[in-house]
Amino acid sequence: MKAALFYGGQDIRVEEMETPTPGPGEVLVDIGAAGICGSDLHPYRGANPWGAAGTPTARRGGHELAGLVAALGEGVTGLHIGQRVGVEPMHLVGCGSCRQCRRGDYHVCPTRGMRHGARHGSAGFSEYDTAVAANIFPLPDRVSLEAASMLDVYACGVHAANRIPLKMDDYVCVLGTGPIGMTAGQVARAAGVRKVIMIGRRDELLKTALDVGAADAVVNNATANVAEAIADLTGGEGCDTVLESVGGTADTLTQAIDACAYGGKIGIIGAFWSDVSVAYRAANRKEIDLLWCNSYASWNGVREYQIALDLVAEGRVQVEPLITHRYPLAAIGEGFRAADDKKGSGAIKVVIQP
Ligand SMILES: [Zn+2]
Ligand SMILES: [Zn+2]
Repeated sequence: MKAALFYGGQDIRVEEMETPTPGPGEVLVDIGAAGICGSDLHPYRGANPWGAAGTPTARRGGHELAGLVAALGEGVTGLHIGQRVGVEPMHLVGCGSCRQCRRGDYHVCPTRGMRHGARHGSAGFSEYDTAVAANIFPLPDRVSLEAASMLDVYACGVHAANRIPLKMDDYVCVLGTGPIGMTAGQVARAAGVRKVIMIGRRDELLKTALDVGAADAVVNNATANVAEAIADLTGGEGCDTVLESVGGTADTLTQAIDACAYGGKIGIIGAFWSDVSVAYRAANRKEIDLLWCNSYASWNGVREYQIALDLVAEGRVQVEPLITHRYPLAAIGEGFRAADDKKGSGAIKVVIQP
């Protein structure tokens, strides 16, 4: 099969390699769609907040993936060849036996992503990839493979909504207009909050946010006074919840603390490139809860990936308009360039179709 190999920075090569064989309890998936995530762009841009910088050997990637069941490993039942499925990525697999895993919080398993003694992640930027059967989610007909490749993104928003947890009378502010911000805004609106206010710097994306149901109101923080705008939009109350979706090198934690109401909560979904500092005085005076949101797992016994799938399948969130660019595996380099320069390309989510 063909697979993309990442040699560091912008050096991405599509090479021939052996098609994997599914082990016991595993499924081989013929990948139909794999989204480029903001976290894929960090190493592309030369930063790697998750360590292991300058890895000497080529790495693989693509953790937002969906496709067709191509082969079943020993002992796998309830799935059939050719079935359309979404895949919860393998870096989220917990050990299954620690306290966090036992209560369903496998995203905070201390040895998350370790399999057979080695770190293991999904490689959706390939023609085929394997996953454990528990991470395979059959798709209803009305959910396309490319829509399903966004379920990982939606599940992050679902997890933040659960973790806060969002309430029906909440004013919610979303910082950032990327795929995480757009999907988190849609999820918050689907959860029935009072109003979602999205804050960003680009008018065309803020307009998109309104068009795709990711926000009820928008504020451009490059041109407007954010504090005044939020006061106007919330009857002077401020935002009960702020969802930070930017990360990187942005100063969004300070902005989030400014936008947050007294006694409010901040859900931090964005991935920062390095350690961040917090405006202690303001955060303390307002007694703000800072809630780090890392990926997703299950909530009250339901997989958050499944909740995301149900939101998409039932049309409660609009995924299609967020997928703006598609490339075959052979043109993955072009796909990364489009995702890296979203302003130039106009991309929101770029999907590779291996
Ligand atoms: Zn991702
Ligand atoms: Zn565990």
